[in-house]
Parts: sequence; structure tokens; C-alpha cells
Amino acid sequence: ARLANQIAAGEVVERPASVVKELVENSIDSGATRIDVDIEKGGSKLIRIRDNGSGIAKEELELALSRHATSKISCLDDLEAIISLGFRGEALASISSVSRLTLTSRTITQSEAWSAYAEGRDMAVQVKPAAHPVGTTVEVVDLFFNTPARRKFLRTDKTEFGHIDELLKRIALSRFDVAITLRHNGTIVRQYRAASNDAQREKRLAAICGSQFVKSAVEVSLEHQGLTLQGWICTPEGARAQNDIQHCFVNQRMMKDKLINHAIRQGYEASLRPEQFAAYVLYIDIDPHQVDVNVHPAKHEVRFHQARLVHDFIYQAVADALIQVAA
Ligand code: ADP
Ligand code: MG
Repeated sequence: ARLANQIAAGEVVERPASVVKELVENSIDSGATRIDVDIEKGGSKLIRIRDNGSGIAKEELELALSRHATSKISCLDDLEAIISLGFRGEALASISSVSRLTLTSRTITQSEAWSAYAEGRDMAVQVKPAAHPVGTTVEVVDLFFNTPARRKFLRTDKTEFGHIDELLKRIALSRFDVAITLRHNGTIVRQYRAASNDAQREKRLAAICGSQFVKSAVEVSLEHQGLTLQGWICTPEGARAQNDIQHCFVNQRMMKDKLINHAIRQGYEASLRPEQFAAYVLYIDIDPHQVDVNVHPAKHEVRFHQARLVHDFIYQAVADALIQVAA
């Protein structure tokens, strides 16, 4: 409980896309190299995420569904250097409290799979034998069936699916090594193949951000005092048409961080022809002890211990890259 108190509580289930985010992040944390996402009716009828990760042992299934049960953080020291995407141990519990949830899984040491079913808030979990390869499938049916006010708040299937599609684009950008398939109402909408070389990475980048982005972007790769910055930055001219493509990842976690945004913008402004457009896909890697991700429940913000250093490094890297292409 003490540990739970250290972790800012937050409601994670706002709409179907937030469910998909939590479930896909769990798959990534489990070491999955392939993730299949099946959506029906914008996610209000069905969200099914299947992975080939480590799986959950039979005796852990029920625990996985209970609040504040996480296998990822075991002491406060872990909390100070979080490398997994999840750590609050409340996503599955929150999701199952507002849906009919089936968790089916098999670990490599088990000869058969098991499945746990929970429905709504009473959480009488039933565990039964099932058929499943090594890995996990989470099926979320009738999201918000017991919270009509929230169900009414959902937009059209198309809009909700659009949010899921955008989310998976960002996830696909964060992990080029993971194959991801997205289906809506039985039809394959996206297929991101695992990319392991530059040509394959560029192909995935083009599939997500468009070939125009790839054409007008310069690649950056810099290292300074244990801090690395990699990725693609559009020239100010190119950015004009790509203004909405602004993706930033810190230690493979998606971020919408004020400090980082500010540094990038300053970098653009320092380039020869300042314009108010910016487009980029950037990856920052930093010692996990140097960053606090436990700031906001939605986990989009970070606190860098050496904020000034990080800011100036990003600013300088962006400015240099843009000045170079302009020259
Ligand atoms: P958190 O991710 O914060 O630990 P969750 O509620 O999302 O909390 O998940 C609870 C636990 O269930 C995880 O700590 C993990 O042990 C297990 N789990 C959930 N999804 C998966 C998955 N796809 N593969 C393996 N284990 C999983
Ligand atoms: Mg999680």
C-alpha cells in the first residue's frame, strides 16, 4: 500500500483508445514481438489485443486483474528508474471494472493456457482452461456497459477508431522491432511489419508519417554526456506541410512534454529561416535514474533531473541539424 501511495493514482480508461494504449503497452512490456489489435465498432463492442510475449502464469491471472498489482515494480528503488511502460498496476483492474474482460494466457513453462473472466465492478474472477499459444490475449467486450453516462460520451465508431489508429501510429514509431496489425470490423486497416534495417525503418516511417515527411526530413543522431538524440527533423519548408507530425519519445515512451517542445521550437527559431512550423519524430534516450516519469497519470510528461542540460542539448541538436541542411 505504501508503494501504491507513491504512485499517483489516475483513471486510465477514458475511451477505447486509452484501453488499447494500456493493453498494447502491457504487451510491449511482456517482450512481445508481434501484437494483433482487433477492434469492432470503434472499440465499444470489442477490443482484442493478442501478443506473443512472456504470458502470465495461471496463479498470477487473478492477481493481474486486481488493483495495484504490478509485477514490474517491487521496491521504491525500481520506482526511481522505471524502464517498463506500465508500473501502477491498475490498468487491467480499471478496464475490467467497466467492461466484460477475458484474459487468456500461457507461459513457456505451461503446457496449457488459462483464462480469467471478470465482469464489471464485483470482480468475481473465474479461471478456466483455454487454448492459446505462448503469450496473452485480452478481450474487452462492451466497454462502459455498466457506466451509461460514459458510454453516451463516446463519439462515432469512426472517430473512436481514428483515435486508436493515431495511437497505434505513435506506438509503431516507438518500437520499429515490433510487428503490429490493426483490424476494424474484421478488415485489416494497418500492418506494420517489424523493421530491422534502415530501408525497412524508412518504409515504416513513410507508412506512418507519409512519404512527403520522409523526403523533407533530415536524420539526426547525437550523443552528449550519456544523453542521445536520434530521429528525423523536417526542414522549416518541409514542416509547413507536415505540421501535425510531432512525435517525441523518451526511453521509448511517448511524450508531450513542455520542456522538450520548447527546446525543439527554439532550435527551429535559431535556424536560418525561422518559421512557426515544426515536424519531427525524435527519440531521446537517457539514464532512467535521470528522469522521473511518475509525474502525470497519463504519463505524457516527464521531469528531467538535469532539465537545463536536456533542454540545451535538444535545442542545440535541432538548431545544428537545420542549419546544416540550409547551408
Ligand atoms: P502494470 O502494467 O502497471 O503493471 P496492469 O494492470 O496494466 O499494471 O497489468 C497488471 C499485471 O498483469 C502486469 O504487471 C503484468 O504482470 C501482467 N500483464 C498484463 N498484461 C500482460 C501481457 N500482455 N503479458 C504479460 N503480462 C501481462
Ligand atoms: Mg500496464
